[in-house]
Amino acid sequence: AVDEPTQLHPLKASLLQKTLSSNLKPLIPNHELVFGKSFSDHMLLTAWDSKYGWHAPEIKPYGPLELEPSSVVFHYAFTCFEGMKAYKDKQGRIRLFRPDMNMKRMNHSAARLALPTFDGNEYIKCLKELLRTDSRWVPDERGYSLYLRPTLMGTEEVLGVRASNEALLFTICSPVGPYFSSGFNAVSLYANVHEVRAWPGGVGDAKLGANYAPTIKPAEEAAKHGCQQVLWLIGENHQLMEVGAMNIFVYWINKQGKPELVTPALNGTILPGVTRDSILSLARSWGEFEVKEGTITMGEISEASDEGRLLEVFGSGTAAIVSPVKHILYLGKDIHVPLDPKNPKSQAGPLTKRFNETIMAIQYGEVPHEWSVVI
Ligand code: PMP
Repeated sequence: AVDEPTQLHPLKASLLQKTLSSNLKPLIPNHELVFGKSFSDHMLLTAWDSKYGWHAPEIKPYGPLELEPSSVVFHYAFTCFEGMKAYKDKQGRIRLFRPDMNMKRMNHSAARLALPTFDGNEYIKCLKELLRTDSRWVPDERGYSLYLRPTLMGTEEVLGVRASNEALLFTICSPVGPYFSSGFNAVSLYANVHEVRAWPGGVGDAKLGANYAPTIKPAEEAAKHGCQQVLWLIGENHQLMEVGAMNIFVYWINKQGKPELVTPALNGTILPGVTRDSILSLARSWGEFEVKEGTITMGEISEASDEGRLLEVFGSGTAAIVSPVKHILYLGKDIHVPLDPKNPKSQAGPLTKRFNETIMAIQYGEVPHEWSVVI
């Protein structure tokens, strides 16, 4: 008989298997939480191979993985991941924030690495079951959450540089606190004119492990200059890309004299942040100022600052929601960014604070919104 092309098995939540831990760990008091240092009792694992497709997802006690040193992930960086959070509302219900966006981005990352993709809705069902299993690990204090780290890696044992015939998709959970425990803490940026984070035709729009390790040395360089984050630039005209592992927003009076919120456009070099998308969407729904996705150069920032048109600059991401910026060190020039002119002690501008408050209220289910998904 002629070989029929076999249909690979899709990822199916209905096949989920569960083995519970018999040795539950003590919870960590909220104020002692350090980002990404402690993990819940269980993890979700799903294996894939190119002959069968997706095997049954499994919830198991959190613990080490067993991989051979020849596994491709260790050699060619076949790995991508996501970062998302689960929040507990006042009624004790657990909520996810726009999980469909994380699944979409993860499938984009997976495809870029020639790793298998999967049905995001099915995986969200599995994540919900993981959260029900580890519900006691979702902190019930506002500002605290359970960080989820879905990860997909190529695991075939072979040194060949080609698509991996085996993969492992897993999610681990880490209870986390507010990024800045004492309220906002405005940061100084070191505008890096030497290294680039991503480039046209590259992989900056995918959340690949390989995009992160090379950012550490430039971050250490920024720290030597007294800055907490790298401002990533590209091109001879030093266009803004991202700040550290966050998207960047600038609020200014534009050259036409109008207040405008602007962020770099998604042109393949920028990670499509879930927070970025949420901020743009809120700003457009308010309709109070212009909202633009486009090019911003350091020259324009410097000029706006000199002319008193620079109002606020902030980073956006799941970890902190927004991270206000107070200085940008650019080619030896210290560009001062205003925070709140009406409140000199404040560490964030009024618009930055408004985005933070609006998004947080949605995440914790204080205002009903389709972005917040009860598990
Ligand atoms: N840019 C980079 C490089 C990031 O790593 C992240 C964090 N995922 C972001 C932006 C912000 O994305 P999100 O809002 O989805 O957390």
